[in-house]
Amino acid sequence: MKSRKIVILVLLFAILIINCERDKNTTTATIIHWNDFHAANLPYKPTYKNPQGFKVGGYANVAGYIDSLREVYPHAVTMNAGDDFQGSPVSSITKGKSQILILNALGLDVFTLGNHEFDYGFKKLRKNIKLAEFPIVASNIFVKESGKLMVPPYKILQSGATKIGVIGVMLETLKSSSLPKNVKEIEVVEARDQVQKYADSLESKVDLTVVLSHQGFYPDSILATQLDKVDAIIGGHSHTWLTKPVEVNDILICQVGSRGERLGVINARVDTINNRVINYDYEYIRTILGRVKPDQKVNKVVDSLDALIAARMDRQISYLQTDWTRSSRGESNIGNWFTDAIRERFNTDIAFQNSGGIRKGLSAGPITERDIWEICPFDNTVEIISVKGDTLTQMIRWRIEHPRDLLQTSGMKRIYNGQTDSLLKVIINGQPIDPDQTYTIATNNYITGHSQRFFGFSAAELQIEHTGIVGRDVLIEAAEKADTINSQIEGRIMDVATK
Ligand SMILES: [Zn+2]
Repeated sequence: MKSRKIVILVLLFAILIINCERDKNTTTATIIHWNDFHAANLPYKPTYKNPQGFKVGGYANVAGYIDSLREVYPHAVTMNAGDDFQGSPVSSITKGKSQILILNALGLDVFTLGNHEFDYGFKKLRKNIKLAEFPIVASNIFVKESGKLMVPPYKILQSGATKIGVIGVMLETLKSSSLPKNVKEIEVVEARDQVQKYADSLESKVDLTVVLSHQGFYPDSILATQLDKVDAIIGGHSHTWLTKPVEVNDILICQVGSRGERLGVINARVDTINNRVINYDYEYIRTILGRVKPDQKVNKVVDSLDALIAARMDRQISYLQTDWTRSSRGESNIGNWFTDAIRERFNTDIAFQNSGGIRKGLSAGPITERDIWEICPFDNTVEIISVKGDTLTQMIRWRIEHPRDLLQTSGMKRIYNGQTDSLLKVIINGQPIDPDQTYTIATNNYITGHSQRFFGFSAAELQIEHTGIVGRDVLIEAAEKADTINSQIEGRIMDVATK
């Protein structure tokens, strides 16, 4: 009897010791993450799986979700994987500053730069970085002039008793996917070596290593196969909806779509001796409006920015002398002004704009910035196509045979017979089209994205330069420059069958 009691006591004692030991070497960490918010600062109705018509997102609401998560997980840290800029007027008008002010109010713990953070230029981005009250990390972006990293490569965060090293990384193709003038001051180097270098150096200082990546899901999955001593990749850029982490080479890859519709939450139990995740659970939260209390501090900032925009949007930027009338079957005076503005800005031979992308006409009178936003609500960017005259002739023939969404035109006159689908004449800069000459065409990325339909050539068959500049911004600039606008129909598009 006595010896049985002793055995039981010894066993209990052993269990106690094992538990103490385990607690000593085990911590929990919580990471709340999102990516590609794209300045969707106000709640909006998602089109996907939304029969009740509820709204999601909006930064005050998203911050409200973070507040309520923090009540459950007081040790949670927040990570934003980039592309918070670009996508709504407030971002364009404040050149990204709006997002920095909001993230300051939200108390973000760490951010990595996305490609769209460069949309307003390098200098502007540097100013915005100075305003940020949260750390910004990227391990593979160098400033050419100094040869130094543009921002610190990593940040060590504390989630309760867990130390998390967060290494930032930018897509290696940033330079080719951005407007050259916005990224000419920097160099982006291969991600793998940089990330591994910092992961190695952090090993003795942290319990967990996370890569905060703006590369996209596919490059992240490749990177994961090449890394050692990394526990998770919190990603962005490809707007991939991952309902739970994808495990590659023991690395958890996470990404939650875009525009704040979802937050991801990783709750991990961490082995602090071996610096690894023992197990975890994951929450994939839809930020439906009305279920949590919006964060008051963030709400205030979002509201004040919105008020600023309202004032800006309703100011007169120009004056219209003749009503702007749209047409999708022939030349329109608004189409002429639109394409002239784009062609002049990019100094090309020709400009094309699909009539369907001109969303409203306008009566003569004051033009406000809001009018231009309503005429051109899409964030389509300008693309430059370079083609030989003979290819261009084929493209225009194709247009005549497939007239859907007629192209408004600047710099070119085309005469054709719409009944017989025959092209009669093309005049560029006052001269007949020269089959051997190279012509430049400014158009938008919607058209180049559908180039097969518009021109009968795939995008791969055409030489296309991406400017990254939003067409609407060009129109606003052009309207501001002109005191009065009086665009007319000039016979740029002539169908002899209707004359
Ligand atoms: Zn991106």
